[in-house]
Amino acid sequence: MKFDTHTVVMGILGNPLGHSLSPLMHNQVMERSSFNGIYIPFTVEESQLGEAVTAIRALGMRGVNVTIPYKEKVIPFLDALSDQARACGAVNLIENQDGKLIGHNMDGPGFMASLRDAGISPEGEVLILGAGGAARAISYSLSMAGVQNLTFAARTQEKAKALADFINQSGGCPAGAASLDNVQESLARARMIVNCTSVGMAPKVEFSPLSSLEKAKMDAVLCDIVYNPLETRLLAMGIARGMRTIDGLSMLVYQGALSFERLTGIEPPVDYMRQVLLEHLAK
Ligand code: NAP
Repeated sequence: MKFDTHTVVMGILGNPLGHSLSPLMHNQVMERSSFNGIYIPFTVEESQLGEAVTAIRALGMRGVNVTIPYKEKVIPFLDALSDQARACGAVNLIENQDGKLIGHNMDGPGFMASLRDAGISPEGEVLILGAGGAARAISYSLSMAGVQNLTFAARTQEKAKALADFINQSGGCPAGAASLDNVQESLARARMIVNCTSVGMAPKVEFSPLSSLEKAKMDAVLCDIVYNPLETRLLAMGIARGMRTIDGLSMLVYQGALSFERLTGIEPPVDYMRQVLLEHLAK
C-alpha cells in the first residue's frame, strides 16, 4: 500500500482493542477497492480521550469508529449527534465533516440491515434478552420499524425497566420488562427473539441466556448478536428445534459497511467483508 498526502485516515478508538475485527475488515476492503486510505486501531487512555477526539479534527482524519468503553464517554467532545446516536446516548462512529465532528450509532441500523439481508421484516412481539448498549440501539431501531411490542428480559431488572421506559417515551411501540428466569410467557408470544447479552461468547461458549426454547413459536426468528462463536449455544438450541436463526456476523458486517459508506461514499462490498471476517473467525 502506498500512502501520500491524499491518503484518507480512519480508525477505531477504544481500550482494549485486542478483540476488534474492524481494522482487518476496513483495511482489506480499502485494498480491494483500490481506495487510498488506512484504518488504524488507537488504544486510548480515558484521561486522553478528549485529546484523541480533538486530534481527529487537527489531523484531518475522515472519521473513527468508537468501541468499549468510550461509546458514551466521547459524546461531550463532539459537535453534533445523529438522531439515532442521540436517542441511544451512544456513538460508535465519529464523522469529521469539514472540521465538525458528528456522532453516529450504526449498531441499530446494522442489525436492521442484517434482517433485511435475510428477508425478514420485523413485526409482532419481540423479546430482547439483555438491557445493555446493544439492546438499547437495536430496540430503538426495532421500535421505529413498526414492531408491535418489545419485552426486555435482563439479569438486572432495573436496567430492563429503564430500557422499557426509554422505549415507551421514545414513541415507537409499547415496551415492558421481565426477568430472564421468568420469561416463558413473553417467549411464547414472540415473533422474534434477540440475544443482546454477552452470554455464550467465547470462552464461555457452553452458556445460554435461556435454559429452554420449548415455549418459543416454531416460526419465531431467533437472533444472537454474539459472533464469536458464530453458532452460540442459544442458536444451536434453536437450530435443534428447527427455528430460523440469524447469527451476529451479519450485524457486525453491516454496521462496518454502513460506517465505511458514511466515511468514504463508496458502496461497500458486503459479501467480501463477510468473507474476510468468516475466514478470520474460522482460524
Ligand atoms: P453491555 O452494554 O455491556 O451489555 C451486556 C448485557 O449482557 C447486559 O444486559 C448484561 O447484564 C448482560 N449480561 C452479561 N453477562 C450476563 C450473564 N451472565 N447473565 C445474564 N446477562 C448477562 O454490552 P453490549 O455492548 O450491549 O454488547 C452485548 C454483546 O453484544 C457483546 O457480546 C458484544 O460483543 C455483542 N455485540 C455484537 C455486535 C455485532 O455487531 N454483532 C455489536 C455490538 C455488540 P447486566 O446489566 O446485568 O450486567
